[in-house]
Amino acid sequence: NFVPPIRSSGGNTGNMISSRISGKCDDALEDSTRKCLEMLCGPDGELPEKLRNLEPRLIEHVSNEIMDKDPNVRWDDIAGLEHAKKCVMEMVIWPLLRPDIFRGCRSPGRGLLLFGPPGTGKTMIGKAIAGEAKATFFYISASSLTSKWIGEGEKLVRALFGVASCRQPAVIFVDEIDSLLSQRKSEGEHESSRRLKTQFLIEMEGFDCGNDQILLIGATNRPQELDEAARRRLTKRLYIPLPSSEARAWIVRNLLEKDGLFKLSEEDIIAICKLTEGYSGSDMKNLVKDASMGPLREALRQGIEITKLRKEDMRAITRQDFEYALQEPSDYQHALGTVTSVLQWAKC
Ligand code: ADP
Repeated sequence: NFVPPIRSSGGNTGNMISSRISGKCDDALEDSTRKCLEMLCGPDGELPEKLRNLEPRLIEHVSNEIMDKDPNVRWDDIAGLEHAKKCVMEMVIWPLLRPDIFRGCRSPGRGLLLFGPPGTGKTMIGKAIAGEAKATFFYISASSLTSKWIGEGEKLVRALFGVASCRQPAVIFVDEIDSLLSQRKSEGEHESSRRLKTQFLIEMEGFDCGNDQILLIGATNRPQELDEAARRRLTKRLYIPLPSSEARAWIVRNLLEKDGLFKLSEEDIIAICKLTEGYSGSDMKNLVKDASMGPLREALRQGIEITKLRKEDMRAITRQDFEYALQEPSDYQHALGTVTSVLQWAKC
């Protein structure tokens, strides 16, 4: 292989990094990968022990795709869920902010399960936790681990926990955790997914015993499918329900006010909430989006060209826009179907 006489960038540090990783030649590393590894080096310029035997491209993938540098969700962005917020504050945020106080009998669990119908704010809670506790947020969908990373999921899981341990305090959010840690019969299970599951449990065990400030949050709308090992490790469990009528009203008001489009009366809001019984937060967001297209569609029906349409000439969004949007065929209320099975599991 041709070896260029001058190193492209990174100097000695790059060389040291590459020599630590699977014996790869420095020039074999892409610039972006080297930069990413350099950022994970300790003050001594050395790559932390946990990352040394991992594949650089996986470390880079975790740092760039799974790690969310700015989750950008605050508690105040989440409608309702007062009970869940209060529990999370005590169980998770205070311990992350004051690890010195939360020791011994106050020591927190390292695993939290958020379960409930889809689109009710579980991911939002995960992001808000990271934001409030000034922690690094890692988001991974377990189904992508089993479908997209076939054969490599195990290595990616090691890279994920490895990078998280260098970025403490950290929150690892695993969406659809049931698809990773389900109790489905092992006969039908692929060898690779069994290995993936074992690796995941080993990693969880690892930080559970140590002093690491890592919190694992699993989210699912099928908690009944989780196996015993997973349930044992996710010691805290919180039900995240469908939004109440007040919470639905809050979502509508908040989304429209953000865009300066809120002109509905209290009566309108009450009517909209009555029509949206059983809707999730995500359904409400989609409904607001649909309804907000009402004035635009009407203007176009009147023959005004989109390029000539002036914002100030558009009428306000009305209750009727919501009513029309609700008549459209849609995926709304998809969440409602899961409520019974989830609640049955919670009772047991
Ligand atoms: P889940 O993780 O439970 O499936 P998400 O947290 O991903 O649901 O929510 C999807 C979207 O729905 C959010 O980005 C947000 O816009 C909206 N949403 C859901 N629940 C709420 C809530 N309680 N308050 C405000 N917005 C919500």
